[in-house]
Amino acid sequence: MSEPLAALVETKPTKQGLNWLAVLWIGGLHVGMLLAPFTFTWSGLVVCAILYVLTGLGITLGYHRLLTHRSFQTPRIVEYLFAVLGVLANQGGPLKWVAAHRKHHAYADEDGDPHSPRQGFWWSHMLWWMHYDPVLDDPLEAHKNVKDLCRDPVYPFLDRWQLLPVLMLAGLLFGVGTLWGGVSLGLSWLVWGMFVRTPLVLHSTWFVNSAAHKWGYRNFNTRDTSTNLWWVALLSFGEGWHNNHHAYQRSARHGLLWWEVDVTYLLIRAFSVIWLAKDIHVAPKPDFGPNLESRRLTVIYPQRKASFVRIASMPIPGRSPGFLKENNHGYLRNVGRR
Ligand SMILES: [Zn+2]
Ligand SMILES: [Zn+2]
Repeated sequence: MSEPLAALVETKPTKQGLNWLAVLWIGGLHVGMLLAPFTFTWSGLVVCAILYVLTGLGITLGYHRLLTHRSFQTPRIVEYLFAVLGVLANQGGPLKWVAAHRKHHAYADEDGDPHSPRQGFWWSHMLWWMHYDPVLDDPLEAHKNVKDLCRDPVYPFLDRWQLLPVLMLAGLLFGVGTLWGGVSLGLSWLVWGMFVRTPLVLHSTWFVNSAAHKWGYRNFNTRDTSTNLWWVALLSFGEGWHNNHHAYQRSARHGLLWWEVDVTYLLIRAFSVIWLAKDIHVAPKPDFGPNLESRRLTVIYPQRKASFVRIASMPIPGRSPGFLKENNHGYLRNVGRR
């Protein structure tokens, strides 16, 4: 380790205890929701719905399927756009979000999983991010799991300045609303676009970590407690098919059976039609064989090893061929071990 880096690490010990900044920020957004009945307008509701979809997809398509798992390829500009939409969801910058989620897969439900459901429903839902994590918030360890993202200066920048786009959006909502219909409309757009929409998106994501590790059915015998839960899938644009996802983490398609509607995957397929998505990884359908009737309880693992069907395979210029392999290190360790 170089001298300056050693000095930096020594003077910056790992933070411990409650992350008060996160608690006050997210808590404040929830308190602001109380203003919703007093500021309701139909256009405010439309603003809320549009931003719910856009920032929700920023998490599911951007942070999760693209940045964490590289389940498909898209031009850089589209990647950055969805990363910014992810930042606007108020779930932290891309580096920490991706690092936490990769750790969740690497240690699913065990020690080392930042939001292990074995520590209780509320821990996995929302208590976990209120506390500093010994690894994710360690100055030396923090970026080890996201070296691929750190090579691109855009992601460290977005991570560092994550509040900037959020505050700009809040100002834009209030400003444009006020110009359109006076201060009361500006306030309505601000409250419904920020203080109502953000907690709704937050809880839809958090339910993936809590409810989709507790209720629902399992298609695959993964060694974690992940489940497929329809209402979480509807709220989170397909992320609720979480057992399928734990079995085939690199798959861009999470809903594998006909009723497992997966809006994020449908959008990725739509992108592929207009050349905005390539090299899409898709998991095979579950094969229940003679045990179909016991699907709710059991769990037939159809293959011992994860494999993927490539439905498109056109390289994107500028990406090294070894990138995805290196990036996927360790993420499949919980498949097929039982
Ligand atoms: Zn999980
Ligand atoms: Zn994942």
